[in-house]
Amino acid sequence: MRKDNLSKLTKSVHTGSPGDAQFKGIVTPIFPSSAYDYEGVDSTRYPRYFNTPNQKAVAEKVAALENGEDGLLFSSGMAAILTSLFAMMKKGDHAIFQNDLYGGTFHAVINELPRYGIDYTMVDASDSRNFEKAIRPETRIIYIETPSNPTLKITDIRAVAAIAKKHSIISIIDNTFASPVNQNPIDFGIDIVTHSGTKYIGGHSDLCCGVAVATKAIIQEIWQSAIHFGGSLDAHTCWLVERSLKTIVLRVRQQNQNALTIAQLLQSDSRVGHVYYPGLPEHPHHALAKSQMPGGYGGMLSFEVNSDAHLFMSKLKLIRRAISLGGVESTVTSPAKTSHVKMTPSERASIGVTDNLVRFSVGIEDVKDLIHDIQQALA
Ligand SMILES: *Cc1c(COP(=O)(O)O)cnc(C)c1O
Repeated sequence: MRKDNLSKLTKSVHTGSPGDAQFKGIVTPIFPSSAYDYEGVDSTRYPRYFNTPNQKAVAEKVAALENGEDGLLFSSGMAAILTSLFAMMKKGDHAIFQNDLYGGTFHAVINELPRYGIDYTMVDASDSRNFEKAIRPETRIIYIETPSNPTLKITDIRAVAAIAKKHSIISIIDNTFASPVNQNPIDFGIDIVTHSGTKYIGGHSDLCCGVAVATKAIIQEIWQSAIHFGGSLDAHTCWLVERSLKTIVLRVRQQNQNALTIAQLLQSDSRVGHVYYPGLPEHPHHALAKSQMPGGYGGMLSFEVNSDAHLFMSKLKLIRRAISLGGVESTVTSPAKTSHVKMTPSERASIGVTDNLVRFSVGIEDVKDLIHDIQQALA
């Protein structure tokens, strides 16, 4: 774990920039070169080596926000996740995943890992002992995601990290939904933290990137594979990510507050069924969420409307329908029609994804305007 005393607000603004020695501007210049001199300097400087100035500036800032030693920036969340998995495993190895994974990760695991001779087990993460029960001599990875999509289940990060350590297994967490503002799994002993930076890290619904943060030694191992797989991020997008990260704490705090207010309101509305939000005392793992999400409970919530969810969503005026999440603008989606469309209705029902479930990515707007929009659409 890294030690620096700056607060997250300050790190989000200042950490990681190489500065502008030539013109003394106060922001990081964009360095688009893909060709660099090799005499008397880092002779491997090249975008696919993840070591150009803009790539390193953002990696340093994200690592600082996650309390990790080092980081790598990828061209997508999936590039970060799959490169980390493949870098840590080889043919004959075994990995354990929690069973409610982000859809893209789920399909990557079931379609890609077996083709390379890697076996896997999916377990119910509501009881962390299930991870220990699934361990085999050849288990290399335990992988979790909390809060989960779309029903915001909470996995016990400390317990999973301890099980992994006890058995010398690498632990990985997808920290996308929480964001580095609310939850820092490295503090609890997790080895590798990944993000879809397309969501809260970018935060403006206008870029695609991914992140992995870990110790210097583990990042070096991931890097060895990353330069082969080639999922690096270009200078212009890196620069936009750096710019976005300067406001991540402000954005996510506002999203936390808005989401909590809306979840409480929906909870007491008779036109709404189940509300899924880890910040509600009624959430089955609220105490656990409180202990591992010191920054807040996040901007994601889901709820069932007692009428037709699609009609409800079509009546919203301010809140837009959209598949992705984590932007400054509030968006809703139907998991049954999007992320979970490949499952049968009964499979969906078994994990709480009913046809009338609405997943809500709460933005930074004035919560009064959001509530007004929800009220008029429910009416
Ligand atoms: C979006 C998302 C991903 C995948 O990220 P991309 O940037 O789309 O590749 C992974 N995990 C979670 C939780 C996500 O929301």
